Amino acid sequence: MAVNTTWVFVEEQDGKPAAISLELLTKARTFGGELGAILLGAGSEDLYAELGRYGAAKVYHLTPDERLPTAAAAAAIAELVGTHEPDLLLFGLTSTDRDVAGRLSARLGKPVISNAVEIGVDGDDVTVTNEIFGGAQLVDTVFRAGAPFIVVARPKSFPAEPGAGDGATPELIPVELPAVGQAGVAVVTGRHVEQQEGPQLEEAAIVVSAGRGLGSVDKLAVVEELAGLLGAAVGATRAIVDADWVPYSRQVGQTGKTVKPDVYIACGLSGAMQHLVGMKDSKMIIAINKDEEAPIFGVCDLGIVGDVHKVLPKLVEALKAR
Ligand SMILES: Cc1cc2nc3c(=O)[nH]c(=O)nc-3n(C[C@H](O)[C@H](O)[C@H](O)COP(=O)(O)OP(=O)(O)OC[C@H]3O[C@@H](n4cnc5c(N)ncnc54)[C@H](O)[C@@H]3O)c2cc1C
Repeated sequence: MAVNTTWVFVEEQDGKPAAISLELLTKARTFGGELGAILLGAGSEDLYAELGRYGAAKVYHLTPDERLPTAAAAAAIAELVGTHEPDLLLFGLTSTDRDVAGRLSARLGKPVISNAVEIGVDGDDVTVTNEIFGGAQLVDTVFRAGAPFIVVARPKSFPAEPGAGDGATPELIPVELPAVGQAGVAVVTGRHVEQQEGPQLEEAAIVVSAGRGLGSVDKLAVVEELAGLLGAAVGATRAIVDADWVPYSRQVGQTGKTVKPDVYIACGLSGAMQHLVGMKDSKMIIAINKDEEAPIFGVCDLGIVGDVHKVLPKLVEALKAR
């Protein structure tokens, strides 16, 4: 048994496929075989075409209503799996994807391997690589439970690249969201788009991140000023998210976002392994910390042992003078 069919779960976000789903389609193309997308969203001709450019030959389209769709989506996918018997199901490490993958795993009685940073297909074996100890160690796990194999992958583990050529428009298969009893009664009552200035954290070429070493919330102003001057996004450790200095959407790390910018500037953060997991693959890491023993110095390319309250204003001053 080789992997003949791979399906990638695609959540529609602002009329487009979520970035992680394009990364997963790109990766899935390398496995050969048939590639399908399970789209959860309103759908559009442009979106189907985009999925085609990334290699999807079929799009199973689930249109959500006002209900929270994850329980019903899992039930619909479980039914599709029974009919079409795909070998590999790929999800991203996002709230919706994780919710669907977990429910699907329970429905199918199949394991799900999460937090994947690499997926390998070799004959009958599907191997999933995870990072542990902040990425210091890699663990390979091979499925032994038989297909379908369910994998949840970390964002930015694979580049998102369209396939060669224009990509044929995929075959569209509308799929009903079934009733799922009590699991499906939650309804979405509102959506809030967070106000944001500057670049998206996950997409920014430069990220300036702040940690507890800043001392207090008002000291964040200098980090924001530096980010503004550099055209950077502001990131944060969980410590300052938990302290309510910044919203969760800025958190970088194991339970936050994964970033891979060209430059990551870590200001007054220790470099706990749960933080490193989310930023250690940045191309250039610059760390400012007053403790020369801080773990962040173990991963940085340029380390400044010093007080953020002295170093950051100097940096801002120097940038303004340019
Ligand atoms: C299950 C789990 C998941 C987690 N997920 C995440 C996650 O996604 N992201 C995340 O970030 N954390 C996460 N954490 C928390 C993580 O373990 C750390 O507690 C957290 O990252 C520490 O944040 P920090 O570096 O801001 O604070 P600290 O560890 O307290 O570090 C503050 C640093 O600032 C330095 N400092 C102090 N004053 C100054 C100064 N004036 N100038 C310069 N440097 C100074 C200190 O030397 C110190 O190194 C998780 C923890 C658990 C258990």
